Amino acid sequence: MPDYITAHKFSSNHREKILKDSVCGCFYCLSIFLPAQIEECAEDICGTAICPYCGIDSIIGESSGYPITKEFLAKYMTTGFRLD
Ligand SMILES: [Zn+2]
Repeated sequence: MPDYITAHKFSSNHREKILKDSVCGCFYCLSIFLPAQIEECAEDICGTAICPYCGIDSIIGESSGYPITKEFLAKYMTTGFRLD
């Protein structure tokens, strides 16, 4: 399965894990930022971090094992996001 499809499972219910990462990115608006910048989480779904830039819960952290680069995020946005 391509990276951009399996990556999506890391974008939900991961607040605890993502806060320990050194970098994370949003594959909706393609921002790359520090976990400390995350201010909001969707508590109703067990702590899914919300992007501080676009407000969408589409954040993936370094601990997912995927590259947190604009290239990867852009590939995910254009292909994987719609598969969910
Ligand atoms: Zn965003």
